[in-house]
Formats: sequence, C-alpha cells, structure tokens
Amino acid sequence: MILKLNGYGYSSNSYLIVGKKNMLVDPGASGTFNILMEELERNKIKNIDLIINTHCHYDHSSADYLVEEYFNCPTLIEDKEVKHLKNGDEVTVSALFGAKLNPPKEIISLSEIEEELKDYGLEVIRTPGHTYGSISIIYENNLITGDTIFAYGVGRWDLPTGNVIELRNSINMLERIANERNVDRLYPGHGDIGDRMAFSYAKLFI
Ligand SMILES: [Zn+2]
Repeated sequence: MILKLNGYGYSSNSYLIVGKKNMLVDPGASGTFNILMEELERNKIKNIDLIINTHCHYDHSSADYLVEEYFNCPTLIEDKEVKHLKNGDEVTVSALFGAKLNPPKEIISLSEIEEELKDYGLEVIRTPGHTYGSISIIYENNLITGDTIFAYGVGRWDLPTGNVIELRNSINMLERIANERNVDRLYPGHGDIGDRMAFSYAKLFI
C-alpha cells in the first residue's frame, strides 16, 4: 500500500510505502515537518525504517534529518546525489528557498542496497534529467516519479545537473516500463496522483 501525504506550500508530496518495511519517500521541506508528523499520526504510523529521496532538492529532502532524529532511520539516495545532500550545495537548490539544508547523518547510496530493496518489493529506476541522480520507484502497480513527470506535466531541466535530452529519454523509458507492468497509478513529487495519461501530457512539454 502507498499512502499519499500531501505536500503543503512548496514542499513536495511524501509517500509512505507500507509493506514488510515502512519506507518514506521524500519527507519534504523541514518547514512542514510538523504537518508530516500529524499525517503520520493520523494514519497510526509508529515506525519508519528507511527514508528514500527521489533526488536531493531542498523541497524533497530538507526534512530528512528531522525524520531521522525522530524515527532513527537512514536516508537512501542515488550515488551521484550523495555528496550534494551531504554538503547541501547548489545542486540541492536550497538558495531558491532562501534556506540552508541540514543533511541527515546517515546516508546510504542506492547501489549499496539496491538488491535488498527488491526483497521489499521495490524496483528503483534511474531517471536522470530533472537532476542527474533522480530516481523513480515501482511498487506493485504504482510508479513514484519524483519530479521527473507529474500528472499534467514534466519536471524542470534547467536547474544544476538537469538535462532535457536525458529527461525525455527517462520519460520514454518510464512509459515503456509502465505499459509493461500495467502501472495504474502515478505518484508524482508535486500535485495530484495521475495515471498513464501523464505520458501523453508529457509529450506536450518535451
Ligand atoms: Zn526537484
């Protein structure tokens, strides 16, 4: 099961994968941590085993350290994004939000536990373009996409390490995989839940 925890203000959506392990995808912005906690409490979630960041942007990752402190769990991110999250550098675009990113203490790179994640039913797909280490996740018939593709649009490619050609290739690859796996729900980093129609909309933008 995937629980959608709506992002408030500029914060990203958060998704809780409830299965053998509880995994929180994109805790969002530190400023809305209290709202995230209220949502978790409302859903009677008592523990989180792993934080997963779809990419290092501030609006997705700046609450990592708060969730880590509360639940005592590490943060997973694609290998290329590790150093940016650790340093809170320009790739995290924290300056766009007029803030400094406080990194989590324990960061695991994707390649370290990619095989283990399969045991929990997660398949991670590398989808560069919005940032070079952006990932998407397949879980059951669901696709979590971060800022690669939204229900009605695509992510920015003009930020540090972004690349429009890679973004287009990643979206085409996701469409192929979504069709093969009969994905019926698309869970994006911002806005509403979508479906495979999102791939038709995406072609209007890239
Ligand atoms: Zn982003």
